[in-house]
Amino acid sequence: MRLGVDVGGSKIAVAVLESGGGERLRRRVSYKSREYGAALAVLAGEILAAEEDAGERCSIGIGMPGLIDPDSGLVENAYNTPYNKRPLKHDLEEKLDKEVRFANDANCFALSEAVDGAARGARVVFGAILGTGVGGGIVVDARMLAGRHGIAGEWGHTPLPWMTEEEHPGPRCNCGRRGCIEQFLSGPAKNRERDALGEEAAMARYEDRLARAFSMIINVLDPDVIVVGGGVSKHERLYANVPPLLRKYVYCENPRTPIVRAKHGDASGVRGAAMLWPVSVPL
Ligand SMILES: [Zn+2]
Repeated sequence: MRLGVDVGGSKIAVAVLESGGGERLRRRVSYKSREYGAALAVLAGEILAAEEDAGERCSIGIGMPGLIDPDSGLVENAYNTPYNKRPLKHDLEEKLDKEVRFANDANCFALSEAVDGAARGARVVFGAILGTGVGGGIVVDARMLAGRHGIAGEWGHTPLPWMTEEEHPGPRCNCGRRGCIEQFLSGPAKNRERDALGEEAAMARYEDRLARAFSMIINVLDPDVIVVGGGVSKHERLYANVPPLLRKYVYCENPRTPIVRAKHGDASGVRGAAMLWPVSVPL
């Protein structure tokens, strides 16, 4: 069976998928300590415990923020986890005595939705996460596209397109740059605007900014569908209000990219991580 792990800033979620895609079991644990060695032990312990619960050895896939640098082998851009700048893949494989596959959590989200979620059957899928941060992933023909540096789909850290004078240059971002999409479209950014402008005006402004950010994706990738997850994706009005706004920005007469809400919600992370392996592999 396939075991998927979603590594977050404060907790680890584990699920074991049956060959048909159903969940055999699920576990969740918080870090007792954020010291690397202790957090590594918790992660390995959860995986072994889940395998024991499942009653068999599993293939292991892990989704987490950031990436594993293909050259150094170190975790990068996973600032809020205990594993940043550490050789997590090497150390975990040593503890478990087998290969572990890693991918960015937004890529796992996109994969899960493309395989059997809201984007099932679409060839080119862009998965957008609008949550505490803004992430994204690209899946083509049900295969994740990681990219040369492992950052494909990271639209959150490019500037908001078609910035107005009022928006320019934008707030300082955690990445050190200014005006990143994440600073306009994350959940916390949306809530700041709501407190300043009220719900209706804040949402209207949010929708126009989201249309601009999606239009950039459509101009570059032209996906068959955009799937939206994360806390902000729960606002149903987005799916009615954003598509008509694309016309203002996309470089074609009649853009008709469907924008849909994720099917699996918070479970997409563990599901996509498990799907980093094919259904049956010799273990
Ligand atoms: Zn940034």
